Amino acid sequence: MSMPARHTLLVIDSSDDELQTAFDHLSHLFEVVVSRTVQDAISILKTREVHIILTDQGIPQLLQRHFLRMMAGAYPEAVQTIFTGESELDLIIDAINQGYVFRYLSKPWRIVELRDVLTVAARQYDQIVERNMLLKKLEEKNLELQESNNQLLELDRLKTAFMAVASHEFRTPVTLIGGFASLLEMSADKVTPERIKDTTSKIAEGARRLERLIRGMFQMLESGEVAEIMHFEEVNPKSLVQGVLEDAQPFFDKREIQLNLNLRDVSTIFADASKIKDVLNNLLLNAIKFTPDAGQIDLEMSYTADGNMVEITVRDHGVGIAEQDIQHIFEPMFSSFDTLHHSSGVYEFQRRGIGLGLAVSKKFVELHEGTIHLESKLGEGTTIMIRLPVKQNG
Ligand code: ADP
Repeated sequence: MSMPARHTLLVIDSSDDELQTAFDHLSHLFEVVVSRTVQDAISILKTREVHIILTDQGIPQLLQRHFLRMMAGAYPEAVQTIFTGESELDLIIDAINQGYVFRYLSKPWRIVELRDVLTVAARQYDQIVERNMLLKKLEEKNLELQESNNQLLELDRLKTAFMAVASHEFRTPVTLIGGFASLLEMSADKVTPERIKDTTSKIAEGARRLERLIRGMFQMLESGEVAEIMHFEEVNPKSLVQGVLEDAQPFFDKREIQLNLNLRDVSTIFADASKIKDVLNNLLLNAIKFTPDAGQIDLEMSYTADGNMVEITVRDHGVGIAEQDIQHIFEPMFSSFDTLHHSSGVYEFQRRGIGLGLAVSKKFVELHEGTIHLESKLGEGTTIMIRLPVKQNG
């Protein structure tokens, strides 16, 4: 309901003379619609908006009651009913007590008085409409506030969970590095070369773990600054995939996971090789982490049907992702945040990180004007596909 430029007045009166008088005296102030019976009035009300109703007492009492009640039910907020007549006091009292009428005017009408009453009714109508509009806006604002509040609470929860996980993630390798280094320091003269080699390789692994964590966090922060971090060049996607596979080979071996490769020869693309390598690394390591020992992972590369994009698909047949989590999977720091499951382990079954891998991957792919798409079913596995445009420099 909106405030009308000109109010519509419905006059219900069984007398043609009265209707004509009303029309003559009021049509310069209102949009006047006339009706001789209550039935006609009801039909009119079904087809057009009416703001004020002037109804005559002369209309049969039962119908009046029915009509007034119907009006109050159908237009509870704004329509102002003015009631005219001579007698039937009980109907008038009843209508007033029920709040169905705005004013009662006795007949014969004095046109000045009628005009005044109608003008006040129109103003009242506008005020009610405005008040209702303001109330609606207030309700909407309240809802928005409620939503912002919920988002803040969620952010706060995420922040707390992230701090817990991140501090755990950072502390673990630092403790390991420190511990192994002290061990060497204390017993350097007594340990065998094999033990030295073993210990230093653990220190190196701890350092790599830290480096990966720090890199992931910075990549996430930086990836807003597109121009600064992208270094585009002509890249051969197949060599890129093969490089990533070489790095991941030890993890495939340790977990005895079989890799099914289906790489089509595709043309070079214009890309930032290190970013795409990071993306493929994240996808492949996730596939390894969520595939049980001796499982299978498929890696495919081809063109999209229209030949405009190179499509790389990593498919695992592992634990899969719960339906309600899929929609959040690309959000930064989305992870189960269950510290029990957290470990920076790169390839162990079900090890979770701090939930940056997929968020970073999505950013990087989008910075190439590509797309990333994930499908997953709990207990059946996950397929993740990236598409990168085949386009020339510039
Ligand atoms: P991280 O591995 O650093 O926690 P990711 O953004 O790579 O962050 O992954 C976020 C979460 O998504 C993981 O913790 C895991 O719960 C889920 N996930 C990602 N890839 C897979 C996959 N292939 N199978 C099952 N779950 C996955």
